[in-house]
Amino acid sequence: MAQAIRKSDTNKPHVLVVEDEEALVVLLRYNLEREGYEVSVAMDGDDAVFMAEAIEPDLILLDWMLPGRSGLSICREIRTNRKLKTTPIIMVTARGEERDMIQGLKNGADDYIRKPFSPTELLARVEAVLRRSDPEREADRLEVGELALDRNSVQVEWQKHPVSLSLTELRLLEVMMERPNHACSRDFLITRVWGENDEVDFRTVDVNIRRLRQALTEAGAPDFVRTVRGVGYALRDG
Ligand code: CA
Repeated sequence: MAQAIRKSDTNKPHVLVVEDEEALVVLLRYNLEREGYEVSVAMDGDDAVFMAEAIEPDLILLDWMLPGRSGLSICREIRTNRKLKTTPIIMVTARGEERDMIQGLKNGADDYIRKPFSPTELLARVEAVLRRSDPEREADRLEVGELALDRNSVQVEWQKHPVSLSLTELRLLEVMMERPNHACSRDFLITRVWGENDEVDFRTVDVNIRRLRQALTEAGAPDFVRTVRGVGYALRDG
């Protein structure tokens, strides 16, 4: 599966597949290319970061069980790499490995998919993660039930009545509204809301989530925020 390493010269989103099972590589490549993605493949952990740095992909599909290094350690390294720290990662885990999923989200993965998965499910995940990661693909308005967030006016409304939020609370809500029902780890929320900031710890996240909840409740909205034990928070979509 040797191939020249090069940066993408097309407008197609470039996906780096990190996977050691040849049959799965063939399947992934076939389905992604058919949808118009450019695909590069790293078949072991040592190659993965090296290739990611070389091609700067739009998205990394990262298998959890790899020879050489675990997906977890690769995920951590990518998140601390200056060039790659914002590159979206979807990790691919074995069925039923709830602990892996939680570890992955805690260590900076954007989403996960469990083996075995259908091509349709995979493509939907890839598309969704790419859309979230690219501001130009983002909708101006996010809606979850009767809760609406307008990115242009930076306003949140519950049943068309304005909800008064601080900018931090609004950003937390925005990140969760982009992915309803999806567990967002505190690390993930810190990266997305505060960016690189050593002053921000998990307690700061919890305090701001509490304020967000309070503001929503005071506006008459139900408690949209769900605590995901051992991970962080998620937004209910109803
Ligand atoms: Ca594997």
